[in-house]
Order: sequence, then structure tokens, then C-alpha cells
Amino acid sequence: MADNNKRDYYEVLGVSKTASEDEIKKAYKKLAIKYHPDRNPDDKEAEAKFKEAAEAYDVLHDPQKRARYDQYGFAGMEGMGGFQGSGMSMDDIFSMFGDIFGGHGGFDFGGFGGFGGFGGFGGDGGGRQQHRGTDLNLRVKLTLKECHTGVTKKFKVKKQVTCPHCHGSGAENGSGDKETCSTCKGRGYVLKTRQTMLGVMQTQNVCPTCGGEGTIIRNKCHQCGGQGTVSGDEVVEVKIPAGVGDGMVLNLSGKGNAGMHNGIPGDIKVYIEVEKDNQFVRQDNDLIYNLLIDVPTAILGGNVEVPTIDGKVKVKIAPGTQSGKVLRLRGKGMPAVQGYGYGFGDEIINISVYIPDSVSREEREALEKMQQSDNFKPSASAKSSFFTKFRQMFD
Ligand SMILES: [Zn+2]
Ligand SMILES: [Zn+2]
Repeated sequence: MADNNKRDYYEVLGVSKTASEDEIKKAYKKLAIKYHPDRNPDDKEAEAKFKEAAEAYDVLHDPQKRARYDQYGFAGMEGMGGFQGSGMSMDDIFSMFGDIFGGHGGFDFGGFGGFGGFGGFGGDGGGRQQHRGTDLNLRVKLTLKECHTGVTKKFKVKKQVTCPHCHGSGAENGSGDKETCSTCKGRGYVLKTRQTMLGVMQTQNVCPTCGGEGTIIRNKCHQCGGQGTVSGDEVVEVKIPAGVGDGMVLNLSGKGNAGMHNGIPGDIKVYIEVEKDNQFVRQDNDLIYNLLIDVPTAILGGNVEVPTIDGKVKVKIAPGTQSGKVLRLRGKGMPAVQGYGYGFGDEIINISVYIPDSVSREEREALEKMQQSDNFKPSASAKSSFFTKFRQMFD
């Protein structure tokens, strides 16, 4: 249904009516990253924005849908099949996002048709439909180190493969066992006429007899029962680019289940999970490290060894270093994922001064001596600069 509260798709993506396909893609990418649920956990508004952008993109990146939207607005989107706005699940959008993210080329909305069963159809350009295999999900657990360098992993995936007996045709004795569907006369679709607010509209529906193929099988393959696919497995290699993070999804186009009757194979969606690291906390592409230094080093200064994601480095501690001081090792963070900025993040070192919980008699005496010294009491200016920093944390 046309919804009057909907924002104009161009407005959603922040592009002009004459924007190129490339501009639309870029604008969508930007929004998808900004409102990605991983960055905005439990934020309903961000999720709505994320979905809104995905819907706008779905229409505007497709020249046919875009032309129709330009001419009729939201009403023109009725009966287009596929995208039904709010019916889109977060998983569907993740796969879109993964697609862009993985750089595997074209966006695939074949699975949005809602025909059920086979995961939708893709057209062959002549009206007849090809079945599309369903997508498979794969979960990959990575260490932070693997995210830093990128890694190739192999998986044995159980999936539907082309039937070896009929080579996917579904017919026991090859193409001679197929005949033209009498319901649709081989077209693969049937026409339906209905009354809408724009007048009489004719829509094409997938032929219920042949499932859109235009042919039916007289003598079904004994091995696959006419499906053209059987259970099997395949070793799949997943190249994970450097810089990926927890919650990202890669799309392996065409690596999912084989489509019925030599149709289009589905995809494999690779969900990235990153194990918690015992040294670093990742914040975007920066790595945060908590460095504990001893009291004498804090006062006198010195060199300390600090781990980075690719080895240890020496860091100079200035005399008079306070707890809470932050050092930055430029370029020692995580790399930006290809296509999402350049270079590396930083390692951010948060310094804390380690205070022992017990002291020896000699240490106590030395400390009590220091206690007498005015030099060990915070000065008025030190207090005020500490308070300024403290207040900034709440701004
Ligand atoms: Zn077969
Ligand atoms: Zn038919």
C-alpha cells in the first residue's frame, strides 16, 4: 500500500533526482554503515533508518523500479513484486550489506520474491523463470589477529548440489521427458487483472502448474525425484579481508544451494564473529590498550614495553605521568576494510599507575617521608586541570 508517511526515496538517501547509479550506491553504503545495528545496539530509530535506506536503495538502484517510482511515486511500487517495504527482515538487509561489503558485484534480490520453497526466482529475460537455490549461513570465528591480517578459511559445507544422474534437468531420460506446460502454454506466467486506485492493472504471476519454468516433466529422475538437486557437500574457501569486525557479513555469491532444474544457485552468507581479545579492546579501527606503570616510572619517567597487534614496541613514559594519560601509536590499529576508508587505525594507550596493596617497613618509611613533602600534595593548578578533564568526560 502507498504510505503517506513515507519519505521520498531520494530524500532518504540524500541524493538528487538525477543521481547516477554510483552516487546512489555510495550514498546507501554511507547510511548502511552509519545506521548499522552493530554500531547502534538496541537503537530502534537507527534500525528504522537502516531499513528505510535499504528500501530506498532497493528501488533506486534498479533502473526499472526507479523509472516506475519516478513516474508514479510509491503507488507505482505496487505489484512490482519483491520488495514490500516493512516486510524486509534484518537478515535480508544484512545480506545486502554483506554484498556491498564483500565487493562481490551485483546485488541480488532474487530471494525477495516471496515465492517460497526455492528461495525465489530470477528471470531469464524471456518471461520464463529460473528457480533460485536458497542461501546458506556460515558462522566464522576469528581472532583479533586474524581480523588484522585477513585470512582464508576452508569449510566443508553440506548443501544441495546438481543431481549427477539427470544433470539437474529432473527428467529421467533427459530433455525428451519434458513437455510444454498447458496452463501457461510455455510462457511460465499467467496474467491476472485487478482493479486498483490507478485503474485496471494487469500483473504477471508465476504459473502455478509448472512453477514458472514453462515445461513439465513426464518421467521424473529416480535419483532426485525430479528436483534436479541432491544432498551433497563442497569445500568452500572463504577469503576474509583484513579489517573485518564482529557482526559483519560477507556474501559468497552463487556458493549456496543449487537451484532446482539447473536454476541459479543461492549464496553463502558468512557471519563474522570475533573472539574477545585478552589485550586489546577494539573501537572502530582503533585498538585500546590499558598500560599499568609503576609509581617510580610514573614519577621519574622511563621506557616500557607495550604490545601491539603485530609485536612489541618500546614507549617512552615522560617524567610526571598521571593516571589517565593517553598515548597514541599512529597506524598500529586495525586496517580499514577495503572500500571503507584507507590506512590503519591507531593503538590508544590508556595509562594507569599501579598502586601496590601492601608495602614493606622501609617502603612505608620512605612513603611517610614523601607525605611530609609539599611536592607530593596536588597543587591548586593541578586540581583545576584535573577537574577540567573530568568535566570533559561528561560533555
Ligand atoms: Zn536427478
Ligand atoms: Zn506453466
